[in-house]
Amino acid sequence: MSDIIVKKFGGSSLADVGQFEKVLRILEVDPRRMYIVASAPGKRKGMEGDHKVTDLLLALYGKYDRAKNTPKTVIVGMIRDRFLGIAQGLGLEVFEEDEFDILHTASDTFHDMDSIVALGEYWNGRILAKARHVPFVDAKDVVKLNKDGMLDMNATLQSRELLLNYKDGCVIPGFYGVMPNGTVKTFTRGGSDLSGTVVARVVGAAECQLWSDVSGMLMTDPRIVPHAKPIRFLTYAEAGEMAYGGANVLHPETTFPVEEVDIPIRLLNTNQPDDEGTRIVPDHLAPERVPGSIVGIAGRQPFAVIGVKKPSMNSEVGFIHRVSGAFVRHDVNIEHMPGGIRTLNIIASKEQLNGKLSAVISDIEWDCAPVEVLLHTDMALICIVGRGMSHTPGVALLPLQALASVDVSVRMIDQDSNELNIIIGVNVGDYETAVRAIYAAFVT
Ligand code: ASP
Repeated sequence: MSDIIVKKFGGSSLADVGQFEKVLRILEVDPRRMYIVASAPGKRKGMEGDHKVTDLLLALYGKYDRAKNTPKTVIVGMIRDRFLGIAQGLGLEVFEEDEFDILHTASDTFHDMDSIVALGEYWNGRILAKARHVPFVDAKDVVKLNKDGMLDMNATLQSRELLLNYKDGCVIPGFYGVMPNGTVKTFTRGGSDLSGTVVARVVGAAECQLWSDVSGMLMTDPRIVPHAKPIRFLTYAEAGEMAYGGANVLHPETTFPVEEVDIPIRLLNTNQPDDEGTRIVPDHLAPERVPGSIVGIAGRQPFAVIGVKKPSMNSEVGFIHRVSGAFVRHDVNIEHMPGGIRTLNIIASKEQLNGKLSAVISDIEWDCAPVEVLLHTDMALICIVGRGMSHTPGVALLPLQALASVDVSVRMIDQDSNELNIIIGVNVGDYETAVRAIYAAFVT
């Protein structure tokens, strides 16, 4: 068994000097060879209205609503102050005099956006490496992406020797990698989790620890169910479903790099490092689940439902292809496509459709000649996750009965064929009542 460990610290764990000090203590007490992945500074606890540095970097491109009217020079000053404040607070000299000037060059054409946004993790990683007295290795030299910006695991595995040559480990910034032409590309938000498991795979770690400000994953959102139970164990697939379904303590793609090699993941809390946290493990290491029990309930909202009505569409070859083409052209992800003989419903997130809805609908009208396009907005999707559901006849009855008992009507239901999840659509206004009712039905 490898004695190498990967520890990834999220933005809340590296948000200020106090949090850095906690991280340094966590690292000090672990004698193993460690590869550390750093996020950009997140929101500081107790500071009402604070910003994540990644959001401030996005604000330089007008992509952060809360800073829409803040002049660029002010935003640059805020970013500089965050990093200088942490470095000085730790008594470290890390940055060159003109280090932050590059932020003034943020271009209106967006061509440099990813490389600028990646600086949040790059600069924070450099502080952590200096504080820990270990080398800093740029993610550009480790995490390789293909020409479409997707992770290229085979190319990334070539970095194994480079990393293993650091006998005391090193610090690597999370959230980005490099494309074959040398361009930096960031992952989707929260993507440092993915960087953590990528590094764990490259160095063949015994475990990948993801440290944040919560003690693992809970069975549902504690803002809706205040005493939601913690999840101690779940499988890679269950974790992926929970994360994709809306449990935002984990990036949905986190498990992919380590699934083939069975490296376990642990979700731990920097503020309470002795808490047990959550273990994400391969199927064969997960404790048996009682058939019909669930691992958790996640949820996301709001979604729009676009209903395309055309009488004989079921016999029109290529109809679904033409409808989905309208979404592809406008770069909108389709979540679900339930339908009947004369209506096809396409469910997509309202955030993604923002500013594109009428263009998508007119493309559908042009390409598919429907008799009508119906639009329902404000749908929430609730995702009930748990392996073993497949062996329990009637398991879908439980949430449906629970919803009926609180007078919530189901607008959509979808069960994946492996029966790892059941997805239920309800009105946004019914969402919290629905989650509470389903939780109470499954969890005693
Ligand atoms: N800093 C990035 C974000 O805020 C990535 C991460 O923290 O994982 O999304």
